[in-house]
Amino acid sequence: MQKTELLYEGKAKKIWSTEDANLLISEFKDDLTAFNGEKKDSESGKGALNNKISTELFKLLESKGVVTHFVEKLDDNHMLHKKAKIIMIEVVVRNVATGSLSKRLGIADGTALPFVLVEFYLKDDALNDPILNDEHCLILNLVDDVKELDILREMARNVNSILKPFFYEKGLNLIDFKLEFGKDKDGNIILADEISPDNCRFWDVNTNEKMDKDRFRQGLGGLKVAYEEVLNRILK
Ligand code: UDP
Repeated sequence: MQKTELLYEGKAKKIWSTEDANLLISEFKDDLTAFNGEKKDSESGKGALNNKISTELFKLLESKGVVTHFVEKLDDNHMLHKKAKIIMIEVVVRNVATGSLSKRLGIADGTALPFVLVEFYLKDDALNDPILNDEHCLILNLVDDVKELDILREMARNVNSILKPFFYEKGLNLIDFKLEFGKDKDGNIILADEISPDNCRFWDVNTNEKMDKDRFRQGLGGLKVAYEEVLNRILK
């Protein structure tokens, strides 16, 4: 399958059309951004690692019955996937408090949450991705009705119930992650975007070492080594 036209360029991926109207190609870039694009860098090979990691995780989720946009990995930096109309909500799942949750609510960094927390944020850089409640989502017409929000919550919890034990087995604590969903040509809600250390937090079970994009956000260095380690543990 060949790329035809560049449809969209985001911070971490370019999206291309193909000869098939129902299929798109994502090109994973080496660019890194944080703090809503204020901090920028590039790390050669990061895109290929995220493509590999996402491919493995989409395959795992599909094998457990989660419907995703994934079709196949084409080469180092390219993934073929179904076309989906992206729902403009970032669905964040949290097992442990850190990042913006700790800041916003004053929960000490690293506190295990009493239950899995699912939050919605508006996918809008200009507004700095504000947090949303159900009514905000309906007022902004981000979904058709509240049932669709329940589907997003249920699918996000299901993804967590598959990924959290999978990573724990590999010595990684899945702290939190961000998912995006879309509607396929029949209007079904499917999991889209990518699942990689760019949008998940992984802490080593034994050392609590951060193995994700926080290495870049916090200037810790060693980002690529950490992403390679995540991939190696997934493949083990
Ligand atoms: N996240 C993301 N994209 C965003 C915001 C958050 O992928 O625009 C991911 C982030 O990597 C983390 C989770 O969502 O795994 C929760 O992030 P948080 O709200 O704590 O935001 P941050 O501290 O990164 O600002």
